[in-house]
Amino acid sequence: MKDIEQSLGVYKVTIDLPLWVNNIQCFLFKGEDGWDIVDTGIYTPGAMEKWKESFRKLRINPLDVRQIIITHDHVDHFGAAGELQKLTQAPVKMVNKENSLVKWKDWLKEILHEDSVFHFFGLPKELKEEVIREKGTQFKNWVPSIPETEDIRAQETIVLGCEQYQILTFPGHCAEQICFYHPDREVLFAGDVLVTPNHLNATNQEPLTDYFKILELLQKMKIAYLFPSHGKPFARVDIRIGLIAEYRKQQMSELKEHLSKESTVYQAYLFFLSRGALTDLFFGLTEVYYFLEHLVKLGELKKVTREDCFYYKEVNKNEMD
Ligand SMILES: [Zn+2]
Repeated sequence: MKDIEQSLGVYKVTIDLPLWVNNIQCFLFKGEDGWDIVDTGIYTPGAMEKWKESFRKLRINPLDVRQIIITHDHVDHFGAAGELQKLTQAPVKMVNKENSLVKWKDWLKEILHEDSVFHFFGLPKELKEEVIREKGTQFKNWVPSIPETEDIRAQETIVLGCEQYQILTFPGHCAEQICFYHPDREVLFAGDVLVTPNHLNATNQEPLTDYFKILELLQKMKIAYLFPSHGKPFARVDIRIGLIAEYRKQQMSELKEHLSKESTVYQAYLFFLSRGALTDLFFGLTEVYYFLEHLVKLGELKKVTREDCFYYKEVNKNEMD
């Protein structure tokens, strides 16, 4: 794998995350007249130190950074973009029709607003208050400044380092995310396309249908090596993606089985947690919510709302006749 990285002129910068995954892989691409960054990680003093250390090691003058690309508008991918823009003076580019970074703080307010579905998850009151407090503070600290951004929606290709990549846009994990594909070398920088949706800012109310469609599409693409944002790069991509899709489907069928008795989102989350499948409460809850909504859409579960809480239960086939 090192050979491929070397031939593409790509260097990984691993930023620690206190989230459902331990870290994120950001990338530095070496070009003839400067460097390109893909994703920035969250902002923490340690994360900024990591960037500066990488610049020193690779002998990069921060002003030689040509551009900073953000794969999607999730905090672990763009949190430090504002501070890195100050340091490098480089343009920050993303698919950004809605200018979502500027609206980002409102998004958190919206999620935690009393009308939001988040309040229908059946979370005990104290725990809910704790999550809201904790996430409010964390998210504010992780994004101390919002960069100026350029929209690369209209662009079909991009030069990262010395190589040209196709820009592919995928829904599923979030409303829109960009990946970079090198057709000759069959390499994909995949961002989070393999990660299930776990935020409440997907514009699609039920994003798992898109997520599974994208997995199928990726499985059919010619990809020899895939670089994910979380975890190590890997080969034998079609097999690996098939396993991921299989695992997700297994999680859903276990969830459905569990829902032979009625359950709230929080109770379903605890069921997953007991199986070691999820960690972070906030992201885990939203992920489980999307799973449940997907099963409702497939007609496998029925959903009722009582006293400001959603309840899900397996559809009794006999009842339907
Ligand atoms: Zn991520």
